[in-house]
This record gives sequence, C-alpha cells and structure tokens, in this order.
Amino acid sequence: MIKLEGISKSYKVAQRTSGVKEAAKALFYRKHTTVEALKDISFSINPGEIVGYIGPNGAGKSTTIKIMSGILVPDTGSCSIMGYTPWKDRVQYVKNIGVVFGQRSQLWWDVPVLDSFELLKDIYKIPQQEYYTTIDLLIETLELQTIVQSPVRQLSLGQRMRCEIAASLIHNPKILFLDEPTIGLDAVSKIAVRQFIKTINKEKGVTVILTTHDMNDIEALAERVILIGKGSLLYDGNLNELRNQYGTHKTITADYEKNSKQIQIPGTSILSWSPERVVLSVDTEASKTSDVITQLSNQVELQDVTIEAQPIEDIIVQLYKEYQI
Ligand code: ADP
Repeated sequence: MIKLEGISKSYKVAQRTSGVKEAAKALFYRKHTTVEALKDISFSINPGEIVGYIGPNGAGKSTTIKIMSGILVPDTGSCSIMGYTPWKDRVQYVKNIGVVFGQRSQLWWDVPVLDSFELLKDIYKIPQQEYYTTIDLLIETLELQTIVQSPVRQLSLGQRMRCEIAASLIHNPKILFLDEPTIGLDAVSKIAVRQFIKTINKEKGVTVILTTHDMNDIEALAERVILIGKGSLLYDGNLNELRNQYGTHKTITADYEKNSKQIQIPGTSILSWSPERVVLSVDTEASKTSDVITQLSNQVELQDVTIEAQPIEDIIVQLYKEYQI
C-alpha cells in the first residue's frame, strides 16, 4: 500500500551571520549550508497497519510525513502510495489520505467548527448523504456534540485536536498520517484520541502512520515501529521484538512481613528499600527473574510481588545513546 524506496531530502539553509558588517555583506552574498534531512529511507506498510514512526527532534519524521502526503518533493527516491506518487498526482491522491499535524490547524480559526467541516465537504466534493453519515459518526465517537458550534479559537487544545482528527476523516480516507496528535494534551484527552485511532483502524481498516514523542501512544497503538535518527532508518520491526532485543532490565517490587535486615541478591541493584518493601532492578542477561524471587523468598516472608518490564521509553533512550542520535 505504501512503499518508499531510497528517499533522500536535503534543505538548503542560509547561514546566519552576526554583526552589522556581516549582515550587510549577507544582503549581497549569502553562505548556504545543506541539511540532510533524510538519507536513503526505504520501508513498506501494509493496509490496516498502525505504525509508530519515532525518533528524536530533527530526525526527519515530519519531512517524511510531508513527502508521503505530497507537500514536499524528495531529491531522490520513489514513493508509491495506493498506486500514486503523492507529489505528482496530488488532486486524486489527497482524496485517499487524511493528515493531522498536531502543531498546526486545518480548521478555520474564527468560524464554528461545523462550518469548517462543511467547507471541507465542498472541497472534497463529498455527496450530502455520505457527509451526514460520516459527520454523525465522527461527532458521536469523538464526543463533539457540545463543541461543534463554537469557533476553534474558543476550544481547549484537547477539544481542538478531536475536531482536527474529525476534519481529517470527513472524506473517509484509507490512510491517516498523524504527526504528534497528542502533543500537549491532558491525560484524559490523550486516552480519548488513542481510543478513537484504535477504533477507526479496527472498524474501518484505516492504515495509520503516527509520529509521537509519547511512548505511551506507541505502546497503546502500534505493533510495529520505525525508528529514524539524523535522517537514517535505524530500526524497523515489531515493538515486542525491540523490547526483547534491547530491554535488558526488569523491575521487581516485593512486599513482605516486617524485616529490618537489608536484602542482598547478586545480579540485582536495589532501587529502594524499607523494612516492608524492596524495589529491585534485575539485569535479565545476568540473572533470571524467577531465581531472584526464589532468593527473595529465602530472605523474607513474601506477601506480594510485581514484575514490570523495562518501559519502552527507557529502551528508546538507550537506543538513542547507542546510535548517538
Ligand atoms: P522531526 O520531525 O523528526 O523533528 P524534521 O523532519 O522536522 O524532523 O527535520 C529534519 C531536519 O531538517 C532538521 O535538521 C530540521 O532542522 C531540518 N528542516 C526541516 N524543515 C526544514 C526547512 N523547511 N528548512 C530547512 N531545514 C529544515
């Protein structure tokens, strides 16, 4: 459905100079540098997938989304999405995709949200009946009943984001590109947005490509992640495999009957300790979790034990360090 091959993109940036003399010179002669935003990026995505596209700031995520949505033209490489080359067949192509940039609005600021939806209906030439069916469903599932009559400028960020997502889906696209859809949202709105993305993926089979800084988004939504750094593709695969491959620690929290003797178990480090509770970090390459629990039970009278895998956030930070990005 989506196939990128050898995509590269660089930006020419004018170098900034300091001082009046230098600034005057720059009026006639400007030095330029080239920023290589994407280097030889290739991947394919199948219909119905939810893919987390992740990487630190400046990695090239937005540039990729812009190329895939036809806004930018790459320097080299090919991109075929549902048989279209996004930047060449724009008019036909955009009918098939929805795009949400978390930092930018596609709604008209001063008019009621519903008017923006109507305008989009005209732009996409959606038949009246189809529009009403879709809009009713979007208003209900995104709980927009009480806000669609208000102008966008009066909405909270969470309310606005729900409207943005609705706007991107008015024309029933097959693919949805979401660039930081949960940025700045409170916990409740984040969960609502995630839930909705899951629903349209499951029920309508919409393919979703999501960039985010929030690893909870990724854990809640994506089975597959593509990791880029400094414009290069670093990892493309299953999220669980990433966890198994790079997640080297587990956290064990044990509650026990009062015992003032410090716990000591080789291959673990103590994150916190009290006479009734210990939190241990286990290096799973050095010791088995089950062995650690056995040893714990030899030292104290256990009441409750919980084991947590290393948060994906930690693993990603570890990877960034490893790749020096
Ligand atoms: P991300 O979305 O992962 O933060 P971007 O795709 O926005 O990354 O940016 C990748 C690189 O390209 C960065 O170094 C950024 O500064 C640069 N860049 C992005 N857009 C432009 C632009 N319009 N002009 C010049 N440089 C740009």
